[in-house]
Amino acid sequence: MNPPQIKYFDHNATTSVASEVVAAMLPFFTEWWGNPSSAYQFGHQVGRHLDGARQKIAALINASPKEIIFTSCGTESNHTAIESALTTTGRRHVITTAVEHAANLQLCRRLEGRGIAVTYLPVDSGGALDLGRLEKAIRPETAIVSVMWANNETGVLFPIPELAAICHHRGVLFHTDAIQVPGKLRCNVAELGVDFLSISAHKLRGPKGIGAVYVRQGTRFAPFLLGGGQERGRRAGTENVPAIVGFGRAAELAVDGLSEMGRVRRLRDQLEAGLLAAIPGTQRNAAPNPRLPNTANLAFDGVEAEALLLMLDGAGFCASAGSACASGSTNPSHVLTAMGMSPRRARGSIRFSLGLTNTAEEVDELVRLLPPMVARLRAGAPPSPDGSQPPRPEGRARLDPVSDTGAVALAP
Ligand code: PLP
Repeated sequence: MNPPQIKYFDHNATTSVASEVVAAMLPFFTEWWGNPSSAYQFGHQVGRHLDGARQKIAALINASPKEIIFTSCGTESNHTAIESALTTTGRRHVITTAVEHAANLQLCRRLEGRGIAVTYLPVDSGGALDLGRLEKAIRPETAIVSVMWANNETGVLFPIPELAAICHHRGVLFHTDAIQVPGKLRCNVAELGVDFLSISAHKLRGPKGIGAVYVRQGTRFAPFLLGGGQERGRRAGTENVPAIVGFGRAAELAVDGLSEMGRVRRLRDQLEAGLLAAIPGTQRNAAPNPRLPNTANLAFDGVEAEALLLMLDGAGFCASAGSACASGSTNPSHVLTAMGMSPRRARGSIRFSLGLTNTAEEVDELVRLLPPMVARLRAGAPPSPDGSQPPRPEGRARLDPVSDTGAVALAP
């Protein structure tokens, strides 16, 4: 199989696995395949590598290794934190935001079905939260507040230390979905002051299917998965040792890679400025700051993002719609609509998320290729005072509410 020739602008969806990570993982398939819980030496030796990886992941977020529990993915980490708080407090109210990833929102919808009240905090047109609204939303019955650190679609950052402080002042636990942050910004749980924090390896050049949840020492905890006594009784299931070792190596690389984020930011700014200048009727979605250094989300008037993505795909470029690569969904992004955007503008929006592998040449090529593509689509688009869309391209798979990145039909 030949490696695909792509220009990848979708690093918030997933990242390529670093060669150093693959090299670190391989011996744990071929030689060190034992069960780390086994009582003999072979098992203990594998277990020591598990501990080593735990230390590296703890170092990534300035935690203690004991505060790290491995999970199967970021989604499980979010579920673990929220379910734990509901169980240990016995309270029946959760606060979150309208712009969370489906990994959080779908759980909240299910909780509502179980009779648990959920408050979805709104955001303004720049994607920001009003902290006063959080203050008002907290009730004696509130078990946990769960607010993402960085939005996967727009890159908008929420003020986690301030949010956590409000919650603690009111005796409420605080969780943050930090899945988009490590490798892009410095992470320090001591500065954040959170009780729970979710991370996922595949966003930082680690393997897919491995995540972790940080649980602050002293926080009461109830396991999400029960069974064996792995993870000191906090998460059952035989550990995915190769993936955990890979996650550990990826965490080390992510710390080193932070020094390169200035370059990534400049490329993102170059892309944004280039497209805004070259294509009339283009707007940036979300306020310029504070946001992740790698993410640009742009609205192209009179264009259906899905059609534009298809053209980009034909030219070898990978990006996704504001509402994620659950491509084919006609639902506009719940994040963009929560920011007050019209469904029409939301459906014309594309997220470009850059990473360490992008080059200035790729950005230049994108800035050169996109204007004629947009012009072609605009020329073919029907006059649409009523917001009707250009025809859906043939052959595009239609996936229903799923998402890597948040595209999910949350509203009926
Ligand atoms: N939360 C955010 C903000 C994400 O971007 C993602 C992945 O797209 C997830 C949660 C889910 O993570 P995972 O794919 O590891 O389950």
